[in-house]
This record gives sequence, C-alpha cells and structure tokens, in this order.
Amino acid sequence: MKYTVSQLVKYDCKTMKIDDIIEQLGGAAAVQTLLGVGPSAVSNYRLRGAFPEYARVRIWQALKARGVHVNPETLTDLHDQPPSGESNSASNPNPLNQTAIGQSNARHPDTPQILLIISGGIAAYKALELIRRMKDKGWAVRVILTKGGSQFITPLSVSALSGDKTYTDLFSLTDEAEMGHIRLARDADLVIIAPASANMMARISHGMADDLASTAVLATGAPILIAPAMNPFMWANPATKANTAVLKSRGIAFIGPDSGDMACGEDGAGRLAEPMAIIAEAEKMLPGKGQLQGKRVLVTSGPTHEPIDGVRYIANKSSGKQGHAIAAALAREGAKVTLVSGPVTEPPPASVQVVAVTTAQDMLDASLAAMPADIAICAAAVADWSVDGAGASKLKKTDGAPPQLNFKENPDILATISSHQQRPQLVIGFAAETDDVIAYAKAKRARKGCDWILANDVGQDQPVFGADENEVHLITASGASHWPRMSKHDVAKSLTDAIIKELTHG
Ligand code: C5P
Repeated sequence: MKYTVSQLVKYDCKTMKIDDIIEQLGGAAAVQTLLGVGPSAVSNYRLRGAFPEYARVRIWQALKARGVHVNPETLTDLHDQPPSGESNSASNPNPLNQTAIGQSNARHPDTPQILLIISGGIAAYKALELIRRMKDKGWAVRVILTKGGSQFITPLSVSALSGDKTYTDLFSLTDEAEMGHIRLARDADLVIIAPASANMMARISHGMADDLASTAVLATGAPILIAPAMNPFMWANPATKANTAVLKSRGIAFIGPDSGDMACGEDGAGRLAEPMAIIAEAEKMLPGKGQLQGKRVLVTSGPTHEPIDGVRYIANKSSGKQGHAIAAALAREGAKVTLVSGPVTEPPPASVQVVAVTTAQDMLDASLAAMPADIAICAAAVADWSVDGAGASKLKKTDGAPPQLNFKENPDILATISSHQQRPQLVIGFAAETDDVIAYAKAKRARKGCDWILANDVGQDQPVFGADENEVHLITASGASHWPRMSKHDVAKSLTDAIIKELTHG
C-alpha cells in the first residue's frame, strides 16, 4: 500500500508501543472483536511487537475514531493532529493513494453519506461493484453486512472497497465505542439495501430490530432505497408482495428486481438491479437532488365523510392508496408536498406534510390554505353531496317512517382550484368511471378546467378501491395514453415522471 509521503512525514512521529495501542482500543477483547481474531492471535502480536499488515488500516481507523492520530503504515503516533480542514477529502487530496483499503471516508459537508446494507443472497457479490461505483462518484459509503450477507462476501472485501470498517454486529462493544448504531443510522443521507433478501424485507416491514441492519433501518430518518434480489417464486409470493406494499406505503423506494436468468437456474423477476441503475435511483433521492426541488405540490387523497348526525356519516370506498403513493413519489423528487387527506388507514408518507380532514368543505378549506402551489393533484374521492342540516344529536329510530335526508351539493375542489386566481401551473384530476371511460374523462377534463385527468375503470370486474394495483388512461390536451395495469406506486412514479417531463420540456 502506498501513501503520499508528504502527508505521512509532515508530522513529528513518536513510537507507539503495541500495548499502548491495545489499551487505546479498549483492551485485548476489543482488539479481538475489531480484527475478528482469537486471544492467541493478540498475544502473538504482543510478542512480535507488531500487528499484521492487513490489520493496520482497521487499527488506524479505530484509533482515529477515538481521536488518536497515527501513521497508518507504521502505527506511530503523530504529535500534531492534522488541521481540521486537512482530513477533508474535497479540499485536500486523500492522504492515501487509490488503493482501496484505507481510502478516506472523511466527509465534506456536500459529500453524500450512504449507508449500504448488504443482506444475504448470491447477488451480494454485486454489492461490491455497487460500492466501487459509489466511491467513484465521490460518495462516502458505510456498510452494514448482515449475517446472511457475510455468507457470500467477507467484511474484508467490503472494507477494501468502502475504505471503512464494515459493521456487522449490533452488540459489538468496539462498534458501539467507535460508531454507535444510532449514529450509524442518523448520519446517513440515504440508506440503500442491496441486495435486499425476502427475509430482510419481511423483518423491516414488521419493524424488527434484532440485528444491526434492521435497527439502523428503524432508527434512520433518511430516505431508504431497496433493491430486492431473490428467487422469482419468493418475489412472487403473496407474503413478499404484501411486505413490499407495506414498505412502499411507508415511502420506501424500490428499484428492480430485474427479470432474467437467475443463479438458482430459474428464470423470472428476482435479479438485483444493475449497480448503475441503483446509483441513478439513489442520486435522485439524495437531499437537494430531486428534479422537483423547490416545487410546491398539493395532493388531495382518500374519501370524505359527510355526517348524517353525531354518529353516522356517508362515505365512499376510497382507501387513499393512490393519492398517498403520489404524494410519496413527488416528495422523493424533492417537492414540498402538502397532502390533504380524508379519513384513511394509510400511514403518512415520509417527508410529506399531512393535513387530516373529514368533510369535503374541510378538504376545500385545507386545499386553499395550501395555495399557492405549482402543481395540484386531486386524487381524493370527494363526496358529491352532504346532508343538509346534519346535527350533533343522534337521529332516533321511531315507529314512524325512516328519516328523510336532504342533500346539498359539495364544493368541487378540482374545479375551484382550476379556476383559482392563483391557479397552479399544472392541475391534475382523477376520473373513476364504470363505462366509456375515455369519453367521459375527456368531457370531465373540459368541464373542470384541469390540465390532465387520470381516468380509471371502476366497473365490476376492475377492482380499484382498496386494491394495490390500478390501470389508468392519462388524458391531456394532446390526447389519451393507456398505462397498463401496475401497482399504484408505479402509477405514482409514472405520473411523477410525466410531471417532470412536462415542467422541464413543456
Ligand atoms: O366529478 P367527479 O367526482 O367524477 O370528479 C373526479 C375528480 O374531481 C377527482 O379528481 C376528484 O378529486 C375531484 N373532485 C373534487 N371535488 C369534488 C368532487 C370531485 O375535487 N367535490
């Protein structure tokens, strides 16, 4: 391994005895854990008075984390610590050459900090290529290798590429001293799980925290990107599908899996997405990198409840899944999203401001309060009518005729926004029709004055309400295009892509 000599001889060195180093690291047991060796190995190092070559970078990094600055090649103490700016890779050349182990992960404020979780599966080897490519981009990469992942690749090969210690064990005292698991999670700008095994997805969808990887996922506030890789049958299994839907509903992004020949000899969807595709997706998710940065977006979602009396209401079947997925997809592109939601059980998407409302009138008020906006998307299934004179007292059943309800028309939020004096640049509505979908949707677009309509068929044989999938037509001024049946999250992603195209290319 070669270093820039000027970087290493710049400071006065004093000899550091191996016993002092072991003591600094927390004792022999901590060194055993750090290097993954037994007690006899550490005794041998003491006798020899030196650590083996391969261990030096790890020891150098562990000492550095404890504020002890040593020469990584000789492990001699440096009297003067490098001035603070000097360890900064962006303003100062890396003291180490391009040899992988020991590349500094020291971080410039603009350097994206990635936490990569590698779980079990044959595709784990591809994560090494992913690390290399991320380092090529100048990203700082910390890696958690799960127990399953370490059956396929070693911590040493991961460290060789990441230039950092590989984190493997939640309860390692050395890890906790150097980098507590909470800090590991909190420091990240983005968490990437690649490959994500079916087991990993199942565990994190249930909020488990029984190893370092799942704990970090639970503790992070950063966006999460999952790149699944597994046997096609495992990917197609309803249990994995349900876990995927739960994770997506929480705003977690997915890339892949790709289809093709699998290492297990089968063919189908389950291959890890290509490393460059993962990086392209990750890039969009980094803070300040989305293509809708600075755009304000209003999204309405879910049903409205219109009271009949103090305990009863009129509602519709909307689950809010589509509207919430749209809000999440837009937020992932950096948009500032206000989600005005009727009563739903969907969890609030990450990085979205949610305003919970009940009635159509509440929804209109909250939507107008969220203006001005650059984009408005009315995905809510707003009740057309409310009960005139609904009071707080429960209507009593009497022996006479059932009560007569008088309806009044609710405000049309989409039409109101479309003709508003602060009309957003792009106003998008939805149309749920049972027949002649496109013709009715085109007429609706003209009547409401919006720019686009996403129309879907809610006929008998087309489950939409509460379902995870949707099949829509996008109606714009220039015509209609059909999007084949796909998950509501993919519809949200496609709509977001169409919006970006519209705003950037007109
Ligand atoms: O008229 P219809 O309910 O079919 O129109 C559907 C579209 O209009 C959806 O985008 C829905 O969110 C919006 N809408 C609204 N306010 C209403 C009724 C519908 O914003 N009162």
